[in-house]
Amino acid sequence: MVAVTPAGETRIWTTLDLEKDGKQHGFLRLPFSTDLSAYGTIPIPITCIRNGEGPTALLVAGNHGDEYEGQIALGKLARQIKPADVRGRIIILPALNYPAVAAGRRLSPLDEGNLNRLFPGKANGTPTEMIAHYVVTVLLPLSDLVIDLHSGGRSLSYYPCCLIRDGGIEAETAKLVELMKIFGAPVGSISDGSGGGASTTLSAAAQSCGVPALTAELGGGGDISRAGEAIATQGLRRVLRHIGILPGVETEPPPPVRMMRVEGKDAFIYAACRGIFEPCVGIGDSVHAGQCAGFIHPIEGAHRPTEAIYLAKSGFVACCRFPAITDPGDCLFKLLSEIERL
Ligand code: ZN
Repeated sequence: MVAVTPAGETRIWTTLDLEKDGKQHGFLRLPFSTDLSAYGTIPIPITCIRNGEGPTALLVAGNHGDEYEGQIALGKLARQIKPADVRGRIIILPALNYPAVAAGRRLSPLDEGNLNRLFPGKANGTPTEMIAHYVVTVLLPLSDLVIDLHSGGRSLSYYPCCLIRDGGIEAETAKLVELMKIFGAPVGSISDGSGGGASTTLSAAAQSCGVPALTAELGGGGDISRAGEAIATQGLRRVLRHIGILPGVETEPPPPVRMMRVEGKDAFIYAACRGIFEPCVGIGDSVHAGQCAGFIHPIEGAHRPTEAIYLAKSGFVACCRFPAITDPGDCLFKLLSEIERL
């Protein structure tokens, strides 16, 4: 596959020397000039733990700011791992879109940028585009593996899943499936990349640069799933051990993973009208075609009928809308189809 290399040299710089052995905590500095801070920068936290030669893992959370399990799991890893534990290098960005993380929002308040819809970014674009560009032009070329930790944010709750993109090359997909089984989220989901993010996500950018990428969805609703955080903490250690970066780390064996597939755009069920969304099924449920999955109750008065949501296909409920108030076009459910039980 041909690498997508966006034009221009990044304006972001880092306080760390990524080639130096040892553990360093510091920042990416994103220039952001405002009325009250003419030479200001946005400090994006970064930790690099390096010990000699070996592979490099790029570990990311806070790509969306209101998704917390990965931010906590990466903070723990950055504090706990010692350089002597490492063979190679771990680059950790627990709050990649830092302005969004600081605001507790999916999007950056600086530019309303949705980082995971702006890859491969722009060298001299908005702050969020500049972050995407830095990842693609500086960090991905250093990396042998990327793990991007998400959850549903304030608008969705997610059953814990690990997601990969099927690039169409059998050996690449087999390698990603193996990593997904080692990560050990209870569901492994394979996408053809035709979902909402298409080619604008970090995983799509990594794939186009030939870097294997795992994405995890660990909870949602804007709060913390302790189970999701534990899956991330264990999964990160197991994968890093497997690729030789943390050869001596203690891990539990991975639990069985149910392998599933996102089958195109009909995997997503959308609201047809405004109202109060009452789901009748929840994440982790198996549902069948024709089943009533919920209702949308009108808010204008009882002269308006309640709308029932009937499913057109069977599947596994991977995520469900979290807030009750719903508008036409909001995603209510995402369904996965089971491939095999492992
Ligand atoms: Zn996300």
